Amino acid sequence: MEKYKNIALVAHDNRKKDLIEWVEWNYEILIEHNLICTGTTGKMVENALLNKIEMKELKKKITKLKSGPLGGDQQLGALVAEGKIDILIFFWDPMQPQPHDVDVKALLRISVLYNVPTACNRSTADFIISSHLMDEKYLSILKDYSKYIEREL
Ligand code: PGA
Repeated sequence: MEKYKNIALVAHDNRKKDLIEWVEWNYEILIEHNLICTGTTGKMVENALLNKIEMKELKKKITKLKSGPLGGDQQLGALVAEGKIDILIFFWDPMQPQPHDVDVKALLRISVLYNVPTACNRSTADFIISSHLMDEKYLSILKDYSKYIEREL
């Protein structure tokens, strides 16, 4: 993991307000990194940061994927599997089932599998963003899963 990190930001509808507040609070740190968001979350993050930095700069910082229910979570999961996401901030809704629950579960599973620091609530997000490791290279240790690749079918 490099000093400049790829940070994924996702929030379900009932948690978008929390995420945007958190983004506004932490924007000075966040804009030092690349932000990868699901569609609707990305639009809201973009609007929130527009007050803070210029559009031209912002365009370089934010990647907007498809909306979560339309495949955005799966796109993010694929990026995790490719080693292109360093941190996942995912404020999922613990009170309401989602039409794409299976995608949500898959994204959370793959982020554990690839040892990606993952925050599902604000306090964890606060601990991650205030870690001194945010400002350093970090060697993420991956568990050896080679026996799963070699096993006979
Ligand atoms: P959204 O997707 O940012 O497009 O709302 C979030 C999600 O449900 O994964």
